[in-house]
Amino acid sequence: MAAAESDREVPSALCTEFLNFSVKDTASKWLQVTDLYKEVYHHLARYVPKIYCLGPNLNPQSEDLLAQMLLQAPLEWYLCGEDPSTGLAKLEQNNQPSQLCGHVFKVGEPTYSCRECAADPTCVLCMQCFLGSVHKEHRYRMTTSGGGGFCDCGDTEAWKKGPYCQKHEPNISDSCQEDPLAHLSTDMIARCYNVFSVVLKYAVDMLTWDKEDELPPGLEPPDRSDTYYCMLFNDEVHTYEQVIYTLQKAVNCTQKEAVSFATTVDRDGRKSVRFGDFAFCELAKSVIVRNTSRQSKPLRVQVMHSSVVAHQCFALKALHWLGHVIGYSDALRRILCQVGLERGPEGENSSLVDTLMLCDSKMWKGARNVYHQLFMSSLLMDLKYKKLFAIQFAKNYERLQSDYVKDDHDREFSVTDLSVQMFTVPSLARMLITEENLMTTIIRTFVDHLRHRDLQGRFQFERYTAQQAFKFRRVQSLIGDLKYVLISRPTEWSDQLREKFLEGLDTFLELLKCMQGMDPVVRQVGQHIEMEPEWEAAFTLQMKLTHIISMIQEWCATDERVLIEAYKKCLTALTHCHSGFADGEQPITLSMCGHSVDTIRYCVSQEKVSIHLPVSRLLAGLHVLLSKMEVAYRFPEQLPLSELSPPMLIEHPLRCLVLCAQVHAGMWRRNGFSLVNQVVHSVLWLQIYYYHNVKCRVEMFDKDLIMLQAGASMMDPNHFLMIVLSRFELYHIFSSAECRKRYNRENANKDVVQQNNTLTEEMLHLIMMVVGERFESGIGQVEGCDEIKREILHQLCIRPMAHSELVKALPENENKETGMERVIDCVASFKKPGVTGRGLYELRPECAKQFNLYFHHYSRADQSKAEEAQRKLKRQNGEDTALPPPVLPPFCPLFASLVNILQCDVLLGMLGAVLQWAVEPSAGHWSESMLQRVLHLIGMALLEEQQQLENSSEDNDVYFNFTLKMSRPGEAPSNTASVLALLENLQNAPHLEVHEDMIRWLLKTVAGIKTLRERSASTSTVTASGSRGQEETACDKDKAERKRKAEMARLRREKVMAQMSEMQRHFINENKELFQQSLEELDASTSTSLDHRYPASPDAALACVGPRRSRPREKRQVVTCILCQEEQEIRADGKAMVLAAFVQRSTVMSKNRTRPPHDPKRYDPLFMHPDLSFGTHTGSCGHIMHSHCWQRYFEAVQAKEQRRQQRLRVHTSYDVGNGEFLCPLCECLSNTVIPLLPRTMGSSSCEQPGLGQWLKTSGQQIKAMHSAHRKLQPVSTVEETVEEECPAPEVFTVDYIPTNPYSSTIKEMLTTFGSATYKVGLKVHPNEQDPRIPIMCWSSCAYTIQSIERLLVDEKKPLFGSLPCRQDDCLSSLARFGSACWTAACQPTVQGHFIRLLAALIPDPQVEASPCILDVDMLHLLVSVVLSYGSVHSQDSSGLSVDAVQLHLFHLITVAHMVQILLTSGPEEVTMEQESGEAERGEEEGACRLYNTLRTLVGSSLPEVGSGWHLWRCVKTGILPYLRGAALFFHHLHGVPAPPELHALCPGQWEVLCGYLSLPSNLLQLFHGQQELLEPLLHGWCTHPGIQQTLQGGGVLVSFPRESNSLIDLPDDYSALINQASSFTCPKSGGDKSRAPTLCLVCGSMLCSQSYCCQTELEGEDVGACTAHTFACGAGVGIFLRVRESQVLFLAGKTKGCFYAPPYLDDYGETDQGLRRGNPLHLCHERYRKIQKLWRQHSITEEIGHAQEANQTLVGIDWQHL
Ligand SMILES: [Zn+2]
Ligand SMILES: [Zn+2]
Ligand SMILES: [Zn+2]
Ligand SMILES: [Zn+2]
Ligand SMILES: [Zn+2]
Ligand SMILES: [Zn+2]
Ligand SMILES: [Zn+2]
Repeated sequence: MAAAESDREVPSALCTEFLNFSVKDTASKWLQVTDLYKEVYHHLARYVPKIYCLGPNLNPQSEDLLAQMLLQAPLEWYLCGEDPSTGLAKLEQNNQPSQLCGHVFKVGEPTYSCRECAADPTCVLCMQCFLGSVHKEHRYRMTTSGGGGFCDCGDTEAWKKGPYCQKHEPNISDSCQEDPLAHLSTDMIARCYNVFSVVLKYAVDMLTWDKEDELPPGLEPPDRSDTYYCMLFNDEVHTYEQVIYTLQKAVNCTQKEAVSFATTVDRDGRKSVRFGDFAFCELAKSVIVRNTSRQSKPLRVQVMHSSVVAHQCFALKALHWLGHVIGYSDALRRILCQVGLERGPEGENSSLVDTLMLCDSKMWKGARNVYHQLFMSSLLMDLKYKKLFAIQFAKNYERLQSDYVKDDHDREFSVTDLSVQMFTVPSLARMLITEENLMTTIIRTFVDHLRHRDLQGRFQFERYTAQQAFKFRRVQSLIGDLKYVLISRPTEWSDQLREKFLEGLDTFLELLKCMQGMDPVVRQVGQHIEMEPEWEAAFTLQMKLTHIISMIQEWCATDERVLIEAYKKCLTALTHCHSGFADGEQPITLSMCGHSVDTIRYCVSQEKVSIHLPVSRLLAGLHVLLSKMEVAYRFPEQLPLSELSPPMLIEHPLRCLVLCAQVHAGMWRRNGFSLVNQVVHSVLWLQIYYYHNVKCRVEMFDKDLIMLQAGASMMDPNHFLMIVLSRFELYHIFSSAECRKRYNRENANKDVVQQNNTLTEEMLHLIMMVVGERFESGIGQVEGCDEIKREILHQLCIRPMAHSELVKALPENENKETGMERVIDCVASFKKPGVTGRGLYELRPECAKQFNLYFHHYSRADQSKAEEAQRKLKRQNGEDTALPPPVLPPFCPLFASLVNILQCDVLLGMLGAVLQWAVEPSAGHWSESMLQRVLHLIGMALLEEQQQLENSSEDNDVYFNFTLKMSRPGEAPSNTASVLALLENLQNAPHLEVHEDMIRWLLKTVAGIKTLRERSASTSTVTASGSRGQEETACDKDKAERKRKAEMARLRREKVMAQMSEMQRHFINENKELFQQSLEELDASTSTSLDHRYPASPDAALACVGPRRSRPREKRQVVTCILCQEEQEIRADGKAMVLAAFVQRSTVMSKNRTRPPHDPKRYDPLFMHPDLSFGTHTGSCGHIMHSHCWQRYFEAVQAKEQRRQQRLRVHTSYDVGNGEFLCPLCECLSNTVIPLLPRTMGSSSCEQPGLGQWLKTSGQQIKAMHSAHRKLQPVSTVEETVEEECPAPEVFTVDYIPTNPYSSTIKEMLTTFGSATYKVGLKVHPNEQDPRIPIMCWSSCAYTIQSIERLLVDEKKPLFGSLPCRQDDCLSSLARFGSACWTAACQPTVQGHFIRLLAALIPDPQVEASPCILDVDMLHLLVSVVLSYGSVHSQDSSGLSVDAVQLHLFHLITVAHMVQILLTSGPEEVTMEQESGEAERGEEEGACRLYNTLRTLVGSSLPEVGSGWHLWRCVKTGILPYLRGAALFFHHLHGVPAPPELHALCPGQWEVLCGYLSLPSNLLQLFHGQQELLEPLLHGWCTHPGIQQTLQGGGVLVSFPRESNSLIDLPDDYSALINQASSFTCPKSGGDKSRAPTLCLVCGSMLCSQSYCCQTELEGEDVGACTAHTFACGAGVGIFLRVRESQVLFLAGKTKGCFYAPPYLDDYGETDQGLRRGNPLHLCHERYRKIQKLWRQHSITEEIGHAQEANQTLVGIDWQHL
C-alpha cells in the first residue's frame, strides 16, 4: 500500500503541464486536421490515464474537474466553434423543444396513469404533468416507479384523451413536422457530426472492450505504469454476507470497508477492491475465487491494468457528456441519433447502437445503466429515430432475448427492458408486425426456449432442473412483450397486416398445440403418489397466456376476414391435435327413452386426461364471435361448418368438466398432495381450483362450457345428454330402472354411493349451465355490460362487499380493468365506512330477483353462503323462501336450439327418475341437493315456456311445450308416473319440508302457464283442476297457519341464539364492563371515595386539601379478586390486593426532543425539568387480584414460558423475563402490579399553624434531621440519640421509629411496584436499595396525572366524572402508593429527598446545588414534596396537622409557579385591551405589582409590560393545567368528592376549582397576603444564577401553558408523501435512494428503514433506523408511516411491533396497504386522530400486544431491524 500512497502525488507533479494546457489551442488544432478521430484518440491516450485511476481510492471530484478542463472543454469548443459558454447558450436559445416531457423516473417516484384515457397501463405521467393534466379529475391510478421509464406526457399515441399537460401543450403556430436541423448551419452540423462520431465510437470501444491488459489501437498510453486493479463484479448468485466475508479474507479490510465494497458492487456492478502491482492483485483474485467456488460458480474477478480502467471511467463520463450536450438542442439530439444508427463497415446490424445492444449482457451494471439512459434521452425522444431504433431492436430481438435468458441480471438492467418503450406505441407495434414480422418473431423465440417435449410434441415440465426453471421464469418476459404488441387493437386493417397477423396466429397455434393435452393425469387407485407432482409450471404458462389468448380473439373480432381465416386455422389445428381421436377406443351404442347414439367407451376415471386444452378453448371463443359478429349468418358459405364434428368438439372439454366433478366427489385424492400456504391440498384439487379461479377461468372453465354449448346446439339434445351421462359414468344408473336396481344391489359400498350422488349433482348442475348461461354476448341476446352486472350482482348476493373485494372477484382485462365502475351503481348502493372498517357495496333490493342459486362462477362454499343469505332476506321480507331460477334472456340464433335440452325425453326421464327416488326413498339413493337441482331445472323449463308464450303473438309460434311433456306418464313397461304427478305427490311429503315452497312455486307456475295457453287457445281441455284447486286452498290455509307458528318459534329461537353468540363474541369486553359496573355499584353503596355524586351536605363547599378538607364518610372498601372471585376488604393490615399495571417510559409530552437520553446510572430524577422530555407513565386495565393469587398466576406463566421456549423456540407477545404478563381477564399487557391501599386518614384535632409558624417549625425540623443524618453517615447505628447542639422542637423525635402500619404482603407489594417503576423508568437493573426508588414512584404519579389532565383537555371532557374507572382506580392507587412508599424505603433517605425538594423553595444553606425555579416542573415538585412529607411527619408527635402542612406547601408552590409563569411570559401581544370587569381589577393590579417586583429583582432581562390584563391572563391560562393536575392529585389522594360544577364543561370553572383547592380565586392574594414572609423567598428565587442564564437564552425556556403535542401534520393527498419520500436519500450511503423511506409521525423525521446501510448499534445489538430513532424520539415507542407501503408501523422496544391501518383512504373507503391497487388516497382525519389518541393515552404498546396476540406471525418478525 505504501507505493500506492506516493502515487497520489502525481497530479501535482503534472500541474504545470495542466496549467499550460489551452482549450482554445487544442480545439483550433483539431479544426485544422483531416483525421479528427486520430487526433482525439491521441489526446485521450495521453491525458485519460493521467487523470483517472491513479491510486487505490478514486477521487471523483478532482477527476471530474480535470476531465472537464482537459477533455470535455476542447470537445465543446470544437463543437461550437467558439467559446462553449456562448455557443451552447445560443443553441439553447434557438432550440424548439419537443412536446414530449420525457422526465425519467427515479426509484420510488410517484407515477400516474388514467384508467379512462391511457392507451395501456404502461402510459404514465410524472407528478408535475399529472397535476397540470385533465386526468386528475378522472379515475386515475397512482403507483411508485421502480426506476427507469419516462413520462409519456405529449405522446399522442399514449392517451386517448388529453395527451398534453398545460406545460407541454403544443403551440399551434409552430409546425411539429419541422426538421430540427433547419436552424443549424452546415458547418455546425458537420462539426457536431464529427465530434459525436468520435466520442460515441470511443465510448463503445471502451465499454465493450474485454482485454484486461491492453487498449484499443490508438489509445496505448505513451508511458505505461505498472499498476493494476483487482476488480470485483456483481452477480445475483452470491449473497451480501458471502461477499463481505470473502472480501475481509481476501483484501484484509475491516467489516465496514467490506460492506461498503459490497454495496458498491451491488449498485454499480463492479468495484476495484485492491490496487497495486500485478502479483499483488492476482493474489487477492485467487483468494476470492477460491473462497467462493465451493458451493457455486465463483465470483467474477479480473485483474485489470489501471489505464484500461481509466479509459472505461472516462467512457462512462463521455456518455454522460453526450446526454448533457444534446439536452441543449433537439438538433444535436437528432445528429447523435444519426451517428448512433449509422451502419458501420461490417454491414447490417453494425451501427454503434447495435454494437452496444449486442454486448449488453457482457457489460457491468453501471455501464448498462449509463448507456440505457442515453438511449432513453436520445433515440426514444426523437420520433423519427425512435422508429429506426425500433426496427433495429426488432431485428436483433431474438439474439437480445437469448442473451438475456443466459444473463443473470434482473430485467431492469437489460436492454430488453426497453421493449416497453416501443412496443406499446400502437403505430410502431403495427409497423413492426407488418415490416419486421415481430409477432411471429416473439412467439417463435419463446417456443424455442421451451425445449422439453413428450412423444406427442407437447411441453413437459416434469423434469425441470432448478436452472431450467430459472430460465423458464426469464423467458416469460417474452409474453409480456407480446402483450405490449397486441395491447391496442387495430382500427383499420391492411392486407399486409392481415397476412402478418395470421402468420403470427399460425405460430401461436403451434405454441398452443404444444400445450393442448400437456401434463395429462391418470387417476391413482391403489397407493398414494408419494412425490409431489410438478404441475405449477404448466399452469403458470396457461395463466401468463390468458390475456394473450383473449387479445387475439379481440383482434379477430375487429375484422371479418381475419375472423373467418382464424376460425379455419384454429379448427385445422384442433383436428390435427385429435386426429387419432377415436383410435383404439371401442365404439359403443347407448340407448335410452327411445333414443340411441353411437359413441366411444372412455372413462375419465381410468384413462389419461388433461386440463390443458387451449386450442379447443380458442376455437370456442372464435365460435362465439361468429355469432356475435353475425358472420355465421351472413357468410355461412365461407365457414367450414359442415366439417365440424360436434361429438369431437365436446369430447375433451367434457372430459375436463367430468374430471372436476370427480375431484369434487373425492375420487382423485390419491394423486398426491401439495403444500400451498402451509395447507395441504390434493394436487388435483388445486388445479381445479385454478381452473375455476377468476385469474384463469375466462380462458379455461368458461370456454369449456361454451364449447359444450356450441357442440350441444348442433346435436340432438337426447344424444348430447346420453354422452354426458356416459362420460360422468352415470349411464347405468339412469338408463332404466332395472339397471339401477341391479347396480344398487351390486354396489352397496357407501363411498361409491356417495360418489355417485355427488357426480349426479354435478351433472345436473352442468346441464343447468349449458342451458342457462346466456350472458356472454354472442351466446345470449345481451348487452356487453350485462355480463359484468350479473357477476357483481351474484357476488353481492353472498354479502355486501368492499370495492377491492369485488375487484378481486372479477376478471381483469390486460389493462387491469374490470369494467365495474360503469355498472356498479345499477346493481349496488354504497355505504360509507366509520372510523374502522371499510366502505361497502350493498345489493339493490330490486336486483335480488335476478339471483341464480346455480350461478356458474359460484364455488360450493359461495353457493351455500348465498343461499343462506338470500333465504334470510326473503324471510325478513315476509316472503316464502323458494329461490326459483331467474328469467333468462333469449339465446342468439346460433345457440337457440339449446333450449330443447329442457324438454327432451332423456332429460325428462332423468328428472322423473330423481323425483321417483325422492317419492319412495327405498327405490334408490338420492340426495336433497340432487332434488333441489331437479326442481331448479323444472323451474327453468317452465320459465322458458312462460317467456315464449308471453312473447309470442300467435299460439303456433311456441314450439316449446314442457307442460305437456311433464304431464305425460312414462312409457310401458315401467309406466312411471308423470313428472307433474310426482311433483304433486312430493308437495306434502313430510321429509321434504325445505323444498315445499319451491314445489308450490313450480305448481303455481304450471297453473299460470295453463291459464296462458287457455287464454290463447280456448280449445284446450281443462282437467278436473277446479275441484282440486279448492282442496288445495283449504289445505294451504291449514298449512300456512302451522307454518306461521313454526316460523314464530324459529324467529324467537334465532333471536336467543344471536344474543348468545354476540355475548360469546364479546365475552371479555362484557366481563370487563360487568366487572367495572359491579365495582362502581360497590363504591356507590359502600364508600364515597369514587363517588361522583353530590356531597352529603350540599351547602358545605368541598375542599380537597388543607384543614377545611371535607372528610369522606368512613366506609369499608371491598373488592373482588378476578382470579379466585373472593371478596376482600382493603385494609392496611389485611391481605394485599393489587391492580395489574403497565409502566413505560414516555416522551409524549416532551417539549424538547433534542435532549439526549439521561445516563441511567448517574441521573438524578428528583426534579423534573419543565420540558418534560422523559417521563414515566403508569397505566392499568383496572383489574384487581389478591397479591398471592397474582404471584401464583405469574409463576405459572413463567414456568409455561420456559417450557415453551425450550420446546418450540417461539416468542410471545410479552417478555416474561422482563416481568411482563397479560392481565388474566382482559389480556392487556402488564409489567407490574400496584397495591391498593386504604385512603389516608386526616387527623381531626390538630394544631393548625399559620405560614410563619410553620416555616419556623419546619426549619427546626430540617435542622434536626440534618444533624441526625450526619450522625448516621459515619456510624450507622440507630441507637444514636438527639444531640444537644441540635435545638429540635421537643415534640419532634428524630430517632422515633414509627410502627409500620402495613401487613407483610402489602409491604412486599410496595417493594414490587417501587422497583418495577424504578427499573423501567430509569432503564436499569432492579436494585431494591437504590435511593431513587421513591422518587421514581412520585414522579410517575405526577407524570401520569399530567398526561391524563392533557388528555381531558384534548378530548374536551370535564375534569371529573369522564375518566374510565380503570384510570380513576389507577390514579387513586398511584397517589396512595406514593404516600406510603416511604415506609418501604430507608427513612433518612426519604427525609433527605424532602429536605432537598423543600430547599428549592425555601433556601437551605446546608443543601447544595438547588435548581433554579425555571428548571423545575411545579406539579412534579408538589406531588413529590407532599408525598415525601409522610416520612417527616411520622416523627412529629406535636400534633402538627398534616393538612395544614400540605396546604402551606401547596400555596408556596403555587406562588412559585406564578413567578415562573410571569418570568417566562412572552412579550405583550398586540391585541385590543379587553374591557375588564370590576371583579378582575384586583387581579390585574396584583399581577402588575408582582411583575414589577420581579423586574426589580431580575433586572433588564424581563421586558416591560404595562398591561395588567395581559399579565393576569398569562397567569390564569398558564397556571390552569397545574391547578387541574393538583385537583386530580388531592382528589385521588384523599378521596374527597369533587363539586358538581367540575363534572361538566360549564363556565365559572375557575372559581369552583380554586374553591376546591382552598385557594382564593384571586391567586395573587397568596403572595400579597403574606408578602413579608414570602418576599425573602422571592428574593432567593430571583437571584439564583440559573435565572439570568436561562432568561438570556442559555437553557431551554418553556413557557406556560404547555400546549399538547400532536402527531405531525400529514398532507391530504398521499402522493405528496410519495413524492417527498422519493427525493429522500439515505443519509449514510451518499445520495443513494432509500428502499424503505419511513416517516416518524411524532417528530417528522424521514428514516432509511429496513436496510443494512442505516443499521446502528444500540446497547450491543445492531438495530435498524426506526428502532434506533425510537430510543431518542419516543423513549422506545415509535409511530411511523412506511411511505412506499402506505402502512403505519408501531414499535415498542426492540422486540415488539405491529402494522396498523394507515389513515389514508381511497374513494371507496378502503386503505391500500402495500399500494397495490393504486387508487388515489386521501387523509382521513378521523382515523388519524384515532392514532393520535392511542399515542396520547400511551396505548401504543398495548395495541401492539393485542395485535400480536391476535396474529402470531407478527411475533416472529425481526422488528428491531426495521
Ligand atoms: Zn412529465
Ligand atoms: Zn407534461
Ligand atoms: Zn383521463
Ligand atoms: Zn384471589
Ligand atoms: Zn385487565
Ligand atoms: Zn421521531
Ligand atoms: Zn440507509
